[in-house]
Amino acid sequence: MNAPATATQTYDGRALINGERIAALDGQTFDSISPVDGRLLTAVARCGEADIDAAVRAARAAFESRRWSGMAPAQRKRIMIKFADAVLAHSDELALMETLDMGKPVKYAKGVDVNAAANCIRWYGEAVDKVYDEIAPTGPNALALITREAVGVVGVIVPWNYPMIMAAWKIAPALAAGNSVVLKPSEKSPLTALRLADLALAAGIPPGVFNVVPGYGPEAGSPLALHMDVDCIAFTGSTRVGKQIHVMAGQSNLKRAWTELGGKSPNIVFADCPDLDRAVEAAVGSIFFNQGESCNAPSRLFVEASIKDAFLEKALKLVPNFQPGNPLEKSTVMGAIVDQVQLDNVMRYIGLGNSEGAKLLAGGSLATPVQGGCYVQPTIFDGVTPEMTIAREEIFGPVLSVLSFTDAADVVKQANASVYGLQAAVWTRDINKAHGVARALRAGTVHVNSYDEDDITVPFGGFKQSGVGRDKSMHAFDKYTEMKTTWIKIDSPV
Ligand code: NAD
Repeated sequence: MNAPATATQTYDGRALINGERIAALDGQTFDSISPVDGRLLTAVARCGEADIDAAVRAARAAFESRRWSGMAPAQRKRIMIKFADAVLAHSDELALMETLDMGKPVKYAKGVDVNAAANCIRWYGEAVDKVYDEIAPTGPNALALITREAVGVVGVIVPWNYPMIMAAWKIAPALAAGNSVVLKPSEKSPLTALRLADLALAAGIPPGVFNVVPGYGPEAGSPLALHMDVDCIAFTGSTRVGKQIHVMAGQSNLKRAWTELGGKSPNIVFADCPDLDRAVEAAVGSIFFNQGESCNAPSRLFVEASIKDAFLEKALKLVPNFQPGNPLEKSTVMGAIVDQVQLDNVMRYIGLGNSEGAKLLAGGSLATPVQGGCYVQPTIFDGVTPEMTIAREEIFGPVLSVLSFTDAADVVKQANASVYGLQAAVWTRDINKAHGVARALRAGTVHVNSYDEDDITVPFGGFKQSGVGRDKSMHAFDKYTEMKTTWIKIDSPV
């Protein structure tokens, strides 16, 4: 059942280069199909190497002109805040677009994604005129200034799971610091990135400073990562492609490469967990949020053997709350999987869980709340062992793997036995156990007695193959600025 408001919606899928919406140079397009019900949303510019080159040239010219990079930080701040205000003013439009394009429930698209993207843009705008540089404590005959300056042209490549938020985490600090940006959104969810760039332009970010080139990874992403005039590439996506990004940076101009990659995050519940109901709600709610399509989803649940049965009994009672529904309806909490390819991928992992001997406790099948859409039931496997595929590989769908452990040393060993190191959680009332286990876990973020604490003020990123560098917080400015030392000789007359 479609919401009537969407029936007449039309979308502009053209690229935005140098302040203008334009078709791909060779006129090619690809179809944007909604996973909500299979409807065609629009034809999107299928950009390739020539379009990327045009966008990079526009970005370079804008950077060299200093019309943005040379602006006083306080002035850039004012424009960034106008940009954030415009995002909020268009929240209904952007939320509906995000839902139709990638399938998440519209209530979260508006309440979480639009708000977080606007907040991120505002936060970096507000921060940029409060950053001071340094003077080194050298001897009296010289002054050594340590300053940070914009790196230049920043290429950004993002995935489809939180299209606006992933874009904002990178473009906001990059733009606030004075860079020009070329953003390649995912081919599975390109529409809101294009609208963000329209809004940025209208808010006063000069033409050429923020360009968006939709297209496929190998056709548009690779030329961006390989481009000789891109100074920095900021990527969020799979570990497989992230590794290629570092290679491409090395093969070309040694551009700075920052990667936010996959995860298989452990959520560890000890028998002395202070609030079992809260732990159950967090475990279930966090794996099923965004249809399980979250890099930091706690997809490996470790429950101490003595409380596992009680824990799972409570968890199973919550599963019906997460049955997929029409994402356009306000009551829906779990929406559509982004497309048929990803749905097939999730079903393949469910098949592997069954064939490798895990015990299916809930879900495991397709769902059809809306004809023509891509839906799967929330799924829980018990009896998962560390060598099973569903304990090792990122599924990126609503599938929870439940494992068990005997003591702290055992669970830390199991939790760290992963190529990933994005997030983790530990639930215990014992302060020594909490600190000890949190320190021993190899992850960029560790939660204690919670899972979903989040704030723009804290860094986000991973250890090991979960990536290189951090998004969010003031630390993100490090990625988009170069450090310069300027020695000034002082021949003092006194
Ligand atoms: P993906 O790696 O397939 O694609 C990500 C982006 O890279 C897309 O824009 C895609 O077009 C582009 N791309 C693909 N091949 C490319 C190539 N050869 N050269 C250049 N660009 C290329 O990932 P996805 O399926 O879109 O997203 C899911 C992945 O993203 C998951 O692994 C998830 O964990 C990860 N992710 C990580 C974070 C984080 O902050 N760590 C956040 C969100 C998602």
